[in-house]
Amino acid sequence: MKLISGQLPWANTLPHPPVYPVLEGDTACDCLIVGGGMGGAMMSYRMSLTGADTVIIDKRSVAGGSSHANTGLLQIANDKSLTSCMNTFGEENGVLFYKLCQRGLQAILDLPEKLEIDPQIIPRSSLLYASSLEDVPALKLEQENLASHGFDSELWNEEKIRSHYSFSRPAALYSRGDAETNPFRTVHSLIHKAHSGGVRVYAHTEALSYEYRTDGVICHTRHGRIFAKNVVFAMGYETQEMKKDRGAELINTYAVMTKPLRSMPKWHEQSLIWETARPYLYFRTTPDGRIIAGGKDEQLTDPDRREVRVLSQSQRLLEELVALFPELQGIEAEYSWGAVFGSTRDGLPYMGPHPEYPHCYFIEGYGGNGTVYSMIAAELLSDTLAGRHRPELELFSLTRTAKPSPSPAIQG
Ligand SMILES: Cc1cc2nc3c(=O)[nH]c(=O)nc-3n(C[C@H](O)[C@H](O)[C@H](O)COP(=O)(O)OP(=O)(O)OC[C@H]3O[C@@H](n4cnc5c(N)ncnc54)[C@H](O)[C@@H]3O)c2cc1C
Repeated sequence: MKLISGQLPWANTLPHPPVYPVLEGDTACDCLIVGGGMGGAMMSYRMSLTGADTVIIDKRSVAGGSSHANTGLLQIANDKSLTSCMNTFGEENGVLFYKLCQRGLQAILDLPEKLEIDPQIIPRSSLLYASSLEDVPALKLEQENLASHGFDSELWNEEKIRSHYSFSRPAALYSRGDAETNPFRTVHSLIHKAHSGGVRVYAHTEALSYEYRTDGVICHTRHGRIFAKNVVFAMGYETQEMKKDRGAELINTYAVMTKPLRSMPKWHEQSLIWETARPYLYFRTTPDGRIIAGGKDEQLTDPDRREVRVLSQSQRLLEELVALFPELQGIEAEYSWGAVFGSTRDGLPYMGPHPEYPHCYFIEGYGGNGTVYSMIAAELLSDTLAGRHRPELELFSLTRTAKPSPSPAIQG
């Protein structure tokens, strides 16, 4: 699958990333991770902490998949609001999902001091503005639900928004506890750390086929086989080529990163900014004084067409940015890209085992919060592989139907 079109900014921020060999010959391990993106990186890092004999492979270079297109917003709030999750999955499960995201985000915030390559993870607040007057009652209810379950979120009126930003909207939620990251550096720093902790890493090594045995899985690659007791598939949106999930949808999304600015516009605490409309626009700043704008999602098209669309969609994103911050008139893009993006119909990612794939687990962090989902999956699956029961996985079951089974209690 051609995942990305256009020009990406992140590789320039780590000019000499670690390189890893191609697998040559047969090997064996307790755990094979297929995919060296955000999901595989977090999983390999967690596995290195348990000391399990782990191998990770990627058919591209490390961080060469969708994680390279990631715009690096890390949020507790999801594409599906807490209120909506409570309505769909019941209060207990809706809150559990948000609490897992909060805990996953905190685990990400704790990473930098443990890693050698700086992942550029910076704590940020988020402004979620009402795209129209009709969205204000739902935003108020969302704030009440967030606050009553212990999430740090305030409702701002038009005047308060105007006093903190160049623009205003009828209302907004201002939430704390979020962050931004450089996804390319984060994936590399996690895999580098896992590698130093004993995980064997192979790049340009494609899993071509599998034999499912009673005692494990044999993974065939071009130049060798891997005998694994367990396999964790972290293949991103390309998982859909191996195992189609009926609840998963793939579309195209677009993003742009500007040239560095001489000064930032009126932008409170360099917060992450997004909106209530669906599909939504989002904006963030970078440590070197640029702005990223993303959105303008559209139906999945063939990669050639997406290549052409990158130019016009990035122009529209810049126009949206100037509409919010008029002082940015004339701002120019340095990088523009379009990419495949996946979400699920019910708003929850997929993670866990699948009855048709013995000794296998999947990480499918589909949705705008894929990085946080990857951290949740890494924690739940590394515990599972270490023999600890994690009932929270029921919420993310790959075989769930409309509603997950009730009340899988959160573990300490
Ligand atoms: C434009 C854009 C913006 C985004 N912004 C955000 C954001 O702000 N915040 C956020 O949290 N998320 C965001 N996301 C989502 C985020 O990028 C994804 O959730 C996340 O990066 C996916 O990581 P992954 O490891 O699942 O997939 P990938 O990064 O695609 O990694 C999967 C890896 O598996 C490898 N692979 C596949 N098949 C095989 C095989 N057979 N053998 C060996 N290797 C294989 C691939 O080469 C790839 O490297 C964004 C996505 C896009 C496209």
